[in-house]
Amino acid sequence: MTRTLIIGLDGAPLELIERWAATGDLPHLAGLMERGTYGELRSVMPVLSSAAWVSFMTGMNPGKHGIYDFVQRDLQSYRRRTVRAGSTLAVPTLWQLLGQAGQRVGVVNVPMTYPVEAVNGVLISGLGTPDYRPFTHPPALEEKLRAEGYRVNKRTHFAPGNEQAFLDEVNAITDMQAGAALELLGSEEWDFFMHVIRDPDEMGHFFWAASDPTHPAYTPALAAAYGNALRDYYRKIDGWLGRFLAAVDEETDVIVVSDHGSGPLYKDVSLNEWLRQAGFLHLKEGVSAGSAPKQLLARLGITRQGISKLLRRSGLGRVERWIKDLLGDKIELLAESQRQELSEIVDWSRTRAYSFGYHGQIYLNLAGREAEGIVPVEEYASLCDEICAALGRLVDPADGQPVVSALYRKEELFHGPHLAWAPDITVIMRDLAYITRQGYEFAATPAGLFATPHTHETGSHREMGAILAAGPSFARQGRSQTPANLIDIAPTVLHLHGQPVPSAMDGAVLAEWLTGAGLGEGALSAAPVTSGGETATAPAPAPEWSDEDEETMMQQLRNLGYVE
Ligand SMILES: [Zn+2]
Repeated sequence: MTRTLIIGLDGAPLELIERWAATGDLPHLAGLMERGTYGELRSVMPVLSSAAWVSFMTGMNPGKHGIYDFVQRDLQSYRRRTVRAGSTLAVPTLWQLLGQAGQRVGVVNVPMTYPVEAVNGVLISGLGTPDYRPFTHPPALEEKLRAEGYRVNKRTHFAPGNEQAFLDEVNAITDMQAGAALELLGSEEWDFFMHVIRDPDEMGHFFWAASDPTHPAYTPALAAAYGNALRDYYRKIDGWLGRFLAAVDEETDVIVVSDHGSGPLYKDVSLNEWLRQAGFLHLKEGVSAGSAPKQLLARLGITRQGISKLLRRSGLGRVERWIKDLLGDKIELLAESQRQELSEIVDWSRTRAYSFGYHGQIYLNLAGREAEGIVPVEEYASLCDEICAALGRLVDPADGQPVVSALYRKEELFHGPHLAWAPDITVIMRDLAYITRQGYEFAATPAGLFATPHTHETGSHREMGAILAAGPSFARQGRSQTPANLIDIAPTVLHLHGQPVPSAMDGAVLAEWLTGAGLGEGALSAAPVTSGGETATAPAPAPEWSDEDEETMMQQLRNLGYVE
């Protein structure tokens, strides 16, 4: 019986793995490269862990599973709401399909696995889990983990001056979670086991510049202090990979996979402000860009820490004191009823398009879809053309060069029953070295379209992640010149486990990566991949989701820089 171990490295690009494998820093990753096949792995759009890991676990594009981001706009109120996947997904996950076939699974710390689904084995949910909610299957596992101090989420977050505490936290939580996963791997019966190490992503967000002399934020002092931080973290990961490899036999297939890559982040772009200047978006009477930052900050419900950072950048110390006097402790956590969002600043009756989300997603204010939509369906295509043409002319005045490197209409990227939730236009700016963030444009950067990220991030996501695969099913052929797709992994694992690949899956079996053993009886053509076995699972009823849960999740996303 085939056994598969997957180690997920959130946000790890092949470039860094190859660089530090070549210098001898990552012997276990280098060993996999030597013994198997590896290459780039194409993620999904938008390039975010939420959309990406759910695409990984379902083998489907976001149009079929419905998860495009960590947040989703409410079509009635235009407000943002956090999204959940896990047991509420209407399409089956890889581990659900394996479990239904009687195979045992272990799934540890995969993002978007909350609410916890009942798997045939064990599951510890990952990113997207409120700390105080049940996070394991079987439920009894939670008590043991909590007694050992296990937690899903970090308690210390990155801030300038707080680097060492953040690094200590990253190292501690990585060790705690990987240690728990390794213990389960040793104590449980399993056919498929998976653990995701989350922090290649956050380390890339916050420490990219320290080892990148071409980055504008790079300084010799930064390099002296933290120039090895990212590499050292990859060395830690490699050490854990070594321990996992030592715990499985040679008959186990091992796949290392990242949900997306990482690269330098240079600027935030206020796409909503651009839409306003270009006449596609209008603010309500009495609210103009930069005119009333203090009211807007309060309306946006930004945390005290966030406000201080924003205002320091804007030189508005007096306003900060005024806000503190006015709102006192309420700044920390405004009740939802007191908080207004971008949704309430915009005059929807005159707005044809708006940006919402991390990266550069643009939505039309479409009649019949958005509650106050004004764009007739027959003008949809021409308005998309108009916006795309105007975006094509957008340049950064700092260098006079174009900003937009790729534009996608939603039909180019997505298909399926959840297409209505897809961004109408996905904007890629400078290969994601420029991004946008919904929610603060008119408060944080009142004057300009471009700003250094106020979150202090110097790195962000890239479309290309990495895959390294070795074991009896995988050919030993070194670096693949053709990128694989993130959505190919679920079909490939199902095939290796002798299971039919549901035809609803968009990915394909990575046949050219497999040996004869992996292909089954001789060539794949002689033993074709089976389709069918459609498993229409009804989603489990969503557990109660309180205002506190919502605010907790939103705060987690703020800490990650994914929302403001
Ligand atoms: Zn990230």
